[in-house]
Amino acid sequence: MTIPFVNLRAQYRALQPEIDAAIQGVLGECNFILGAPVREFEDAFAQFVNARHAVGVSSGLEALRLALFALGIKPGDEVILPANTFIATALAVSQVGAQPVLVDCDPRSYILAVDELERAITSRTKAIIPVHLAGQCADMDAVLAVAARHHLVVIEDAAQAHGALYQGRPCGSLAAAGCFSFYPGKNLGAYGDGGLIAINDAELAERLRRLRHYGQRAKYDHVELGTNARLDTLQAAVLNVKLRYLRNANAARWSHAQIYRQCLAGVGDLGFQQEMPYSTHVYHLFIIETSSRDALQSHLHAAGIETGIHYPIPLHLQPAYRHLGYIEGVFPQSERLAKMMLSLPLYPELTEAQLEEIVSEIRFFFQKVKLRTTVALPNTGPCPIPAEAAA
Ligand SMILES: *Cc1c(COP(=O)(O)O)cnc(C)c1O
Repeated sequence: MTIPFVNLRAQYRALQPEIDAAIQGVLGECNFILGAPVREFEDAFAQFVNARHAVGVSSGLEALRLALFALGIKPGDEVILPANTFIATALAVSQVGAQPVLVDCDPRSYILAVDELERAITSRTKAIIPVHLAGQCADMDAVLAVAARHHLVVIEDAAQAHGALYQGRPCGSLAAAGCFSFYPGKNLGAYGDGGLIAINDAELAERLRRLRHYGQRAKYDHVELGTNARLDTLQAAVLNVKLRYLRNANAARWSHAQIYRQCLAGVGDLGFQQEMPYSTHVYHLFIIETSSRDALQSHLHAAGIETGIHYPIPLHLQPAYRHLGYIEGVFPQSERLAKMMLSLPLYPELTEAQLEEIVSEIRFFFQKVKLRTTVALPNTGPCPIPAEAAA
């Protein structure tokens, strides 16, 4: 049995009639650019994240870049973001000509260490981008408090957190702008690239609509230098279908994650990304940490179980960001996690049998490790899997 890291085919099969009909609808109309499904999706998603407006764009990176641009971030400015994130968060800052300034992450939540924010602020700092990593919200009240003290703009990178709640409120609408990605493997994924900016300010929303569409106010009436970063009608049509299932899909991810937590507790030297009390985690990723990460990954691969590493090189050590001048050792938590983190398969369609197989292979691996170090075996009795969790 092979267990892939993501399984988009299983998801398509479950929704095939509806998705095929949605795609056929677009083909029938041939309204490929900014057709009705785009606005329909924007309105539905705005409601989903409790934002007044939503502007569909061509990717998560473009969402971040346009949000920064529209909020006035410009060359010479500094923008603070975590070292432990996907490179797109920093690239968006670089692309508006500003400088990414990195901070370490919290060892428990793996998310932006808020107590390190203040030290990173200079007279040039203009914005903070908290990243809701793996599907768990950053501590937004704490971030917003620091931002208010220093008059900084806050933009949420919610590319991994569609539907995650912070103190019961949807992330993506908690700050000046919330940026989402619909890359196929995300919790809400298109059949190609896509992204969206959730925003409460009506004027900024209008400006973002212009910016993504050549800066035009009306056809061939260009009031500013825009770009081509529209969300495709075809992608919007697919997303309209999938959005209706997102809450249930997130709930299934969450209950699978609880099974991992219960069944892997106390096994070997495993640690987990902790669930913080202020966030409802939507488990884009289920991340464990262990000092035998590479050996565990090879063991699982040999057993037909694919895993991922998010991310093996923290931003400050990426060759592309060498010019920022960070040296190894400055962000010890991010560096430690880069060596220890492993993401296990986690998607709604994962079956009970697959979960059992993954759990037992991980236990088996650590038993072998223990045997080799001649320490007593841990108790690895059967772990009950609640039937409803796998439904
Ligand atoms: C996926 C992702 C992005 C970028 O999204 P794309 O649609 O791939 O451009 C940005 N930030 C984070 C944290 C992501 O995971």
